[in-house]
Amino acid sequence: MLESSERSGCEGCGSAQVPGLAQWHRRCPSCGLETAAFTAHIDERDGPDIDEDQRELALRPIREANFDTLLAWLKAQTGAGGGAGAQRPRLLDVGCAHGWFLEKAAADFEVFGIEPDPEVARRTMARGLPVRRGYFPDALAADERFDVIVFNDVLEHIPDVTSALRHCRERLRPNGVVVVNAPDRRGALYRIAGTMARLGMPGPFDRLWQKGLPSPHLYYFDTASLAAVAGRAGLRVTASRRLPTLLASGLYERIMCSGDVSRAKAMALTVGILPLVPALRALPSDITVWLLAEQATS
Ligand SMILES: [Zn+2]
Repeated sequence: MLESSERSGCEGCGSAQVPGLAQWHRRCPSCGLETAAFTAHIDERDGPDIDEDQRELALRPIREANFDTLLAWLKAQTGAGGGAGAQRPRLLDVGCAHGWFLEKAAADFEVFGIEPDPEVARRTMARGLPVRRGYFPDALAADERFDVIVFNDVLEHIPDVTSALRHCRERLRPNGVVVVNAPDRRGALYRIAGTMARLGMPGPFDRLWQKGLPSPHLYYFDTASLAAVAGRAGLRVTASRRLPTLLASGLYERIMCSGDVSRAKAMALTVGILPLVPALRALPSDITVWLLAEQATS
């Protein structure tokens, strides 16, 4: 009984969801959580994926800059990485992909990554990074605990976000934190895409949700909805900050590798979007990083 009412209601606050901007899209009028009824197929790929390489390469400048900002912020928030000689905090990167975040975090943390895609995991391990193939938390040993658990563009792809966060709480050491770096529904691009979808142009909205890709977005959060979901898992939001959405560098590749775009159209889109980049920097960003900690036990 509980299960079926939970399934029809909002995963965060339990309110009734309302139809969204597409047949597959739902939103909660109470906490703001947005969900998509997509099926993820990330583990069904076999062999190297050229598009995946191109996609990652295109996103690298954005990700690298945001990782630096995120790590500096994380260290300031948690006081980690300051003490000389002190034992370094243990950090888990869930869905670590090519290990770019692990490489940067290794200066201040004892890092460890898990990655479900076998080919990506193999290549990252081959570069000497401490990575294990598999899903969170199944890839972990029963007694493995962490001071920091990081989801970089990962949490919004996981089908049951509440249980993923419950597992996080179980896997945290005392005073540990969860870092959620994810798209934000309050972002300017997302709002523009939503307006376009309402006007009968669903393309950008579909793309932001990564509709049709092997691992589409299943959630779009903001602080209220993430706090609602986290609350069900015994966690609370303790801090958040926005990260820059978009850099000009890599934009063309990013559009090209979304699959169904012709070269000419990608070029036209790039030329159309480039002049907007400075304006977009002034608008609400589409990426937020949230810090979650255990709720005080009463
Ligand atoms: Zn809700």
